[in-house]
Amino acid sequence: GRKFFVGGNWKCNGTTEEVKKIVTMLNEAEVPSEDVVEVVVSPPYVFLPTVKSILRPDFHVAAQNCWVKKGGAFTGEVSAEMLVNLGIPWVILGHSERRALLNESNEFVGDKVAYALSQGIKVIACVGETLEQREAGSTVTVVAEQTKAIAEKVSDWTNIVLAYEPVWAIGTGKVASPAQAQEVHFELRKWLKENVSAEVAASTRIIYGGSVNGANCKELAGQPDVDGFLVGGASLKVIILGILECP
Ligand code: 13P
Repeated sequence: GRKFFVGGNWKCNGTTEEVKKIVTMLNEAEVPSEDVVEVVVSPPYVFLPTVKSILRPDFHVAAQNCWVKKGGAFTGEVSAEMLVNLGIPWVILGHSERRALLNESNEFVGDKVAYALSQGIKVIACVGETLEQREAGSTVTVVAEQTKAIAEKVSDWTNIVLAYEPVWAIGTGKVASPAQAQEVHFELRKWLKENVSAEVAASTRIIYGGSVNGANCKELAGQPDVDGFLVGGASLKVIILGILECP
């Protein structure tokens, strides 16, 4: 089976004090065991060492991005090697905010995923359509193209979690309905089956992100192809603890 996965994407939020408060809240919580739910929290780069050093050992940390190749003269970037050096096991790549605001193309995201994996870092790879694309009926085409750009660069999917995050649902309070999420997750799994392999399709976690909260998580989690969540806003608050109870 596919172990339920919950990622908390803190985005560009927090002070040292706030970050410590969130970690304390997580550390003190009684949540389902590691065998039931895999929990990964993703603070901004600068807080990674702090969070890693104080976070409970059954939870893990993720960076929110990393450079596309080996480090060097790339001012402002953080390399996968540096994440390895700090013992950061996960990275989020291809988040829609980076695709939209920092012009990350499908190909660039595919290269980043492949490079991070080559360094031994596990990847939460994000895909998702805009409202315009959904209304034009191209949701499945868009997410398939984004996934294809990754599949072209990657042969081993063991260390990838695929996150479906419809752009119109991110930070808007407009969560995808369970049926809408299930439909796209089903199509992504079918795409993996037809274009990668039946084994990869069966074993890859496909998680949902976009306005997940304590009230809507249970029904979403009940969909057969929804294997967890990537949570933004609610991951900064006590709401995340209820979401961890979903599986
Ligand atoms: P929200 O949960 O705030 O909508 O953000 C979702 C997200 O982008 C997680 O990566």
